[in-house]
Amino acid sequence: MSATKNLLAGDTTIIVLGASGDLAKKKTFPALFGLYRNGFLSKDTHVVGYARTKMDLSQFRQRISQFIKTPHEEIKRQLVEFLELCTYVSGSYDEDEGYQRLNKIIEEFEKDTSGDKNRVFYMALPPSVFVSVAKGLKKNVYSTKGVNRLIVEKPFGMDLDSSRELGKALAPLWTEEETYRIDHYLGKEMVKNLLIIRFANVFFGSIWNRHSIANIQITFKETIGTEGRGGYFDEFGIIRDVMQNHLLQILSIVAMERPVTLNAEDVRNEKVRVLRCISPVKLDDTLLGQYVKSEDGSKPGYLEDETVPKGSNCPTFAAATLWIKNERWEGVPFILRCGKALNEAKTEIRIQFQDVPGNIFNNTAPYESLILDVLKSDHSNFVRDDELDAAWNIFTPILHKIDQAKIKPQAYAYGSRGPSGVDDFVARFGYKRP
Ligand code: NDP
Repeated sequence: MSATKNLLAGDTTIIVLGASGDLAKKKTFPALFGLYRNGFLSKDTHVVGYARTKMDLSQFRQRISQFIKTPHEEIKRQLVEFLELCTYVSGSYDEDEGYQRLNKIIEEFEKDTSGDKNRVFYMALPPSVFVSVAKGLKKNVYSTKGVNRLIVEKPFGMDLDSSRELGKALAPLWTEEETYRIDHYLGKEMVKNLLIIRFANVFFGSIWNRHSIANIQITFKETIGTEGRGGYFDEFGIIRDVMQNHLLQILSIVAMERPVTLNAEDVRNEKVRVLRCISPVKLDDTLLGQYVKSEDGSKPGYLEDETVPKGSNCPTFAAATLWIKNERWEGVPFILRCGKALNEAKTEIRIQFQDVPGNIFNNTAPYESLILDVLKSDHSNFVRDDELDAAWNIFTPILHKIDQAKIKPQAYAYGSRGPSGVDDFVARFGYKRP
C-alpha cells in the first residue's frame, strides 16, 4: 500500500495497555481505526488490547467500537475489517505471567512474516502503573527483531521532582529514542501549522516580537465539569491537567526562535531554549477559580461531584501570566487561561498587536496524526525529557505554594465566563477587549 511507505519497515503490532479504559475507548481505538481507513495500517497489522478486566473478544470489540462513528455502509464494512485485526488479552500489570501470554500471542502473529517485527506499545493507563508496565513490557514483550516504541500519556509527574523520578525509573528501560510522550495538543493541525505560519511567512516573521505585539493570550475553555470523574481531577487540578502541559506547549511554539531545520530535534531544541527563558510563575500573576452550581441551579458545583473530596480547594479555572526574558519577548505578557464548566468550548491563541486584535485556531483528529507520527518515527510533535523538566520548573513553585497555603479559589457559576476577576486580571496585563 503506497500510503504506508514512510512507516516503520516490516510488520507492526500495536499493543494498547489499559485497553478497557476511557482513553482507549474514546481516543486510541477511534484514532487507530482512522489510520486503518486512511491506509496507514495494512491488513497485516495486529492490534492487541491488554488490561486486567476479563472480557471475551466480542465484548472487547463491542467496547472499542462504541465511539467510532459509522455514517455509511462503506465505513461499517471497514470497521468490521478493522475489528478483525483487534484481539484482547487479560492480565495483570505487575506479574510476568500475563505479559508472557501477551508475548506468545504477538509471536503467533509475527510467525508468518519475514521482515522486521516492530512493536508499538500505547500506555492508556493511570500513572500509578506506568513504571511497572514499562518494566513488564521491557522484560517480557520487547521485540528483539524490530523497532520498539513506547507511547506515554500525561500526566508526566505531579511536579519537577516526581517527573524526574518517573524519568529516572523509565530511562534505563526505554531510551529517549523509543519514548513518545503524547501531548495531544501538539497533534492539532493548527498547532502544527503555526510553524509554517511563523517561519514561512515574511510578514509574520517581521512583526512577531515585542515591538508589534502587546500581549498574547492562550485560552482553553471546556463547557463540561468533572461529571463524576472528579476523583482523578482533584489530585491534579487545572494547572497540572491543562496549563503546565498543553498551554505551555502551544506557548513554546508561538514564542520559540526559528529552528535550524524542521527536524524533530532542532524543533525540540528551540522549544526547550524558550522555556528556559521563562521564570517561575508568581502568585501575584495568577488567578484561581472553582465552579459552583449554575445560575439556574440545573448544573452541580464542583464540590457537589460525589467523587470530589469534601471542601477541596482544587482549582478548576486558572489564569497565569508568564514572562519570557529574551530579546524578542521582554515585557510582553503571555496570559494562559483554562477552565472547566465555562460558557463555551474553545482553544484559542489571541495575539493582540499594539493596535490590531486577531485570533486563530482549529482542530482535527489529534490522536490519529500523533500515532501516525510514531509509526513514522517522527518525534517532532512529542515532548522531550528536558522539555518536560523546563516546563515543570516554571510551574512547580506556584503549585507547591497553592497546595501548602491552601489558597481558596474564587467561585464562578457553572456555564459562566469564569471568576468575576478575570477581566480585571487580563486588563492588568494590557489586554484591551475588542
Ligand atoms: P482509566 O481510569 O479509564 O484507566 C485505564 C485502565 O487502566 C482502566 O480501564 C483499568 O483497566 C486500568 N486502571 C485504572 N485504575 C487503575 C489502578 N489504580 N491501578 C491499575 N490499573 C488501573 O484512565 P483513562 O483511560 O481515562 O486515562 C489513561 C491515561 O490517559 C491517564 O494517564 C490519563 O491521564 C490520560 N489521559 C486521558 C484522557 C481521557 O480522555 N480519558 C485524555 C488525556 C490523557 P483494568 O482494570 O481493566 O486493568
